[in-house]
Amino acid sequence: MAKLTKLEDIVSLCKRRGFIFQSSEIYGGLASCYDYGPLGVELKNNVKKAWWKSVVQMRDDVVGLDCSILMHPMVWKSSGHADKFADLIAECKKCNTRTRVDHLKEEAAEQADEHTEHVDIDTVAAQAQDLSKKLCPNCGVVGQFTEPMPFKLMFETQMGANVDDSMTMHLRPETAQGIFANFRNVLDTTRVRIPFGIAQIGKSFRNEVTTKAFIFRTREFEQAELEFFCEPGTDEHWFEHWKEARFNWYLDLGLKKENLHFREHDSDELAHYAKGCVDVEYRFPFGSGDWQELEGIANRTDFDLRQHQRGIRTLNKWYESKGYITRIELADEAAEYLKGPLSYFDDQKKQRYIPYVIEPSAGIDRSALAFLVDAYDEEQVRGETRNLLRFHHALAPVKAAIFPLVKKDGMPEIATNIYNDLKKYFNCFYDQKGAVGRRYRRQDEAGTPFCITVDGQSLEDNTVTLRERDSMEQTRVSTGQLLSHLREKLDI
Ligand code: ATP
Repeated sequence: MAKLTKLEDIVSLCKRRGFIFQSSEIYGGLASCYDYGPLGVELKNNVKKAWWKSVVQMRDDVVGLDCSILMHPMVWKSSGHADKFADLIAECKKCNTRTRVDHLKEEAAEQADEHTEHVDIDTVAAQAQDLSKKLCPNCGVVGQFTEPMPFKLMFETQMGANVDDSMTMHLRPETAQGIFANFRNVLDTTRVRIPFGIAQIGKSFRNEVTTKAFIFRTREFEQAELEFFCEPGTDEHWFEHWKEARFNWYLDLGLKKENLHFREHDSDELAHYAKGCVDVEYRFPFGSGDWQELEGIANRTDFDLRQHQRGIRTLNKWYESKGYITRIELADEAAEYLKGPLSYFDDQKKQRYIPYVIEPSAGIDRSALAFLVDAYDEEQVRGETRNLLRFHHALAPVKAAIFPLVKKDGMPEIATNIYNDLKKYFNCFYDQKGAVGRRYRRQDEAGTPFCITVDGQSLEDNTVTLRERDSMEQTRVSTGQLLSHLREKLDI
């Protein structure tokens, strides 16, 4: 039976093989920040490429965007983040450790429940909080907590060199708001018609109270978000559409079906504006030992665009009160819904409305971790343990490794030529050091699907050994056909 993968195995392989390092390790490390090494950056880029391909490139109804991380403070005011993006925390009176209230567990239970979201603090505060039986995860004392208090999650920074005109800004806690802020720009400059989506991948920052489990929850992370705008009334159809599309994306990239499921949000978990929300969860080998969120898919109604439309109005009113002329013509409050700058005019139906939004929001780092965990395998081969990453070809950091069997008889020259030829099309690696068996094992651990060895027979008949990672099967392929053969297998 396959061994259950432990997080320690993954962390150790990631460090050993240069996938992921602790940030600032030479200075003792920085908590909850990680650096992607040579193999890790390839993996992460491939996850992003696969997301972009499926969500943008292969669709006629989605366009891309890349927004700045720093945005106008009104963006966060309108979205609600400035006032409400916080976790409710309680401090243990004995050891002074602060923990998210929704992560506290009672004494009898084994692990903290992670099935929680960052929600606005009014919603959380409204929920009864009885901490008398809760266990401090740090010192184990029961029921010794302070009253719960909100802890703001956005990182602050200063913009501007002069004390007088410098402004407090926030690092974005999600990429989505940059999409809403550009909704009008995209509408005015492209040919998109509703229904359509705007997609973005980029860094987000949250001063998380509890970080844990390697790259699962960090304070700096990458998100891949799509805001799909549709006509009210068609939103449930598109919600179902994106649920299916996003679930299949993980399956198509090789995650095992038994490790993936949907979790519908209970009605008391839903944000007040959301009509529906479902998480795609993966069975990670840590925390409560089971299901954790990979991606959230929400029907956000017209909440965000409306909020920004109100924000624009508020700002313009303020400018007007100071005697400035405002840039955007605003309808009066009553007509806002129909005439606001973030409304949409359907020129076929002759109707104006504020679009509804379906938002699939995924974590790139979390997905990369899930792909690593799912691909990890150990098997016994001739009395030795073989560690390998059975990555889907699209995700494998290196697609093919090329070896001369020995460093003589012209084999390195032939192997170098093959390497130079193939690397124009996909990521390759050349290695001539050590026994070929060990070179194969190193590539197994890196998840490289194919190894090509130039050997004695190559000198006679221009064929090479092609070894496949998962089956370890070896076949002979002529050098002239190698490229087309590999491109077909790799689907590149
Ligand atoms: P959680 O409940 O795990 O804190 P969330 O529900 O607040 O997450 P969202 O705001 O829905 O997360 O963000 C969308 C996705 O972004 C998540 O599904 C996750 O993959 C990723 N993500 C969110 N916060 C983090 C983090 N601190 N570190 C890594 N990835 C994150």
